[in-house]
Amino acid sequence: ASRAVFRRPVVPSLRVNAAATERSYVMVKPDGVQRGLVGEIITRFERKGFQLVGLKMFQTPKSLAEEHYGELKEKPFYGKLVDYIVSGPVVCIALEGPGVVASARKLIGVTNPLNAEPGTIRGDFGIEVGRNVVHGSDSPENGLREIGLWFDQDEIVEWEQHMTPWLKE
Ligand code: ADP
Repeated sequence: ASRAVFRRPVVPSLRVNAAATERSYVMVKPDGVQRGLVGEIITRFERKGFQLVGLKMFQTPKSLAEEHYGELKEKPFYGKLVDYIVSGPVVCIALEGPGVVASARKLIGVTNPLNAEPGTIRGDFGIEVGRNVVHGSDSPENGLREIGLWFDQDEIVEWEQHMTPWLKE
């Protein structure tokens, strides 16, 4: 059966800087999914004011986990990290907004949940670096690269968010 695709037309006047808008790849890791934290995590980014432009559940192939964490190949924990990421489904999230990469990292908290501030996702929901619940891109360049890795082009939805005038001057 073919998949029906419904797409709202983009309103150009409200998407002036669409191409220049920053994006971050955020992912609920397998522990976050298994622990029932998906809604909680998406809610934190939504209510902050960032716009969801991609969202799906996904069972990660090993090759993709290896590519995503390619920069960490030489780290002693690399093998365990790849096993962790493929150990169950993840939820892939593409977020858009000014400064979204750095802001999402702040909302997520530092890598080791024991050191992460209360109020951050890792600070509130984790105790070990190898089970830190969520991923967030570390630079705008990596945001675009990672969204390209995890999403097909037609899975990214450009849409007009009606609350925008209440978030941005
Ligand atoms: P971050 O995800 O905060 O950007 P890194 O890019 O340094 O952190 O590491 C990627 C992921 O690798 C971490 O989120 C964590 O899941 C895992 N990791 C990092 N350091 C360790 C470690 N010392 N032991 C086990 N896993 C680790």
